[in-house]
Amino acid sequence: MNVELKAEYEWRTVLQWHIVPSGDSTALCGRLLAPAAETKPIPAAHDGEVCERCGAADKSAAPHS
Ligand SMILES: [Zn+2]
Repeated sequence: MNVELKAEYEWRTVLQWHIVPSGDSTALCGRLLAPAAETKPIPAAHDGEVCERCGAADKSAAPHS
């Protein structure tokens, strides 16, 4: 599954990043994100706050990582 990070905002700052299937707006944890929210590639995940539930879901979906 191709995934990317999508931002969840609080006011105008990024609250945390969720993992979403590429081109989708629903995170792996079930959170619906704004379609226009900023996205970035997964390798950038290590420099920001990433949703723990998304992280757990992504590991179970891709055990080879
Ligand atoms: Zn999430």
